[in-house]
Amino acid sequence: MKLLFERSVPGCGCTILPACDVPLVELDAAKREQALHLPEVSENEISRHYTELAKETHGVNDGSYPLGSCTMKYNPKINEVAAALPGFTKIHPLQPDHTAQGCLEVLQTAEKLLCEITGMDRMTFQPAAGAHGEFTGLLLIKAYHDHRGDTKRTKIIVPDSAHGTNPASAVMAGYQVINIPSRADGCVDLEVLRAAVGEDTAGLMLTNPNTVGLFDKNILEITRIIHEAGGLNYYDGANLNAVMGLVRPGDMGFDVIHLNLHKTFSTPHGGGGPGSGPVGCKAFLQDYLPETGAQSIGRVKAFHGNFLVVVKALNYILMLGREGILQASQNAVLNANYLRKKLSGVYDMAYDETCMHEFVMSLEQEKHEESVSALDVAKALLDYGIHPPTMYFPLIVHEALMVEPTETESKENLDELIRAFLEIHEKAKTDPEYIRSAPHTTTIKRLDEVAAARNPKLRYEF
Ligand SMILES: *Cc1c(COP(=O)(O)O)cnc(C)c1O
Repeated sequence: MKLLFERSVPGCGCTILPACDVPLVELDAAKREQALHLPEVSENEISRHYTELAKETHGVNDGSYPLGSCTMKYNPKINEVAAALPGFTKIHPLQPDHTAQGCLEVLQTAEKLLCEITGMDRMTFQPAAGAHGEFTGLLLIKAYHDHRGDTKRTKIIVPDSAHGTNPASAVMAGYQVINIPSRADGCVDLEVLRAAVGEDTAGLMLTNPNTVGLFDKNILEITRIIHEAGGLNYYDGANLNAVMGLVRPGDMGFDVIHLNLHKTFSTPHGGGGPGSGPVGCKAFLQDYLPETGAQSIGRVKAFHGNFLVVVKALNYILMLGREGILQASQNAVLNANYLRKKLSGVYDMAYDETCMHEFVMSLEQEKHEESVSALDVAKALLDYGIHPPTMYFPLIVHEALMVEPTETESKENLDELIRAFLEIHEKAKTDPEYIRSAPHTTTIKRLDEVAAARNPKLRYEF
């Protein structure tokens, strides 16, 4: 397809700016030496360009999107209507508080409700994403130990079933990561954990349910071991979609958590748009939060973070209510188990037991017998108008496909998904080459991933 620059015709631009309502100031020193290279296209051309782009990609509005660990649920459009209200969009973060009472009420109510859902006491909305929240939460843990003069705590324990961002955030926060292996049942090995803790333990980062979709049944024992060693417990709450309304991290022994409002609490994500990764903590950590007093870790983002995402999340919570929040999680778990049960026996389940919101299959046997890999199955799903599951993650499962259907898919959609998975598996036996060369019906066919990685073209040559 043509790029916007290739559609450009000099003089055909459609800049329609509102009249200037502030005094004009000449900024000679800052003036460009050359005109900015911008495409000149009419509104019609812009509209066609983006429609063409939209047709070449896949979103939740096109079909199922069972991308594990990403919670690609359908996001009610009413959230967008709420976030577009002028009272929320036409404000300035520096305007006096008494003129922004409604917005402050949104933040306060969202904090209250999210604290109630998670069992935390305070929350900051500054972090812009999950990983940003992890970093912020770890700085709270660090501030806590430093403030007590307990500076020898240099290590964060991270089980190998954690999300990949966990160890990365710990390193960013200046910690050494102690990686501990999971047992064959996917849970944390308590003996290994006991042996790993000590006076140098700053804390534990745990994703629960973990990246294989299992809720660690020893959770209370795990958090107790860390507390007894003097460390704090960090809960990666990006997978809260499996447990909200059912259990609370605050009751499981966690001191700090982050949430992904752009997963669990219904904001479109995946295209690099704004996210929100609020961090909640217990009362004894509140003085270290980004926006408060002398002991604060300092700002991690301007003002209140991506405020409009909080508006969408609050709208979603208020719309669902206590019952609805619980039902959303229960249906997410039910859908995942329906899918898992219908596929097991044909596909090899990495952990064949009741899962939470997602499960992991292994294509190791198919790879060995038919040379059909997890990647090939993922590509073949595109021909059914289905987005592939997460591939090759978690790392502890070979040829992994991680499937998270979410609660917003109907039984009919799940049955379509099951039919696609089963047909692909059958085809892999009778005509493996067909699956190896999929997709066949999309505008863009199988890409040369090696060339894309080795010779990435990241800039347009004018
Ligand atoms: C998505 C996810 C993250 C990271 O969130 P981002 O917003 O992508 O930074 C962290 N942990 C888990 C378990 C996740 O699923």
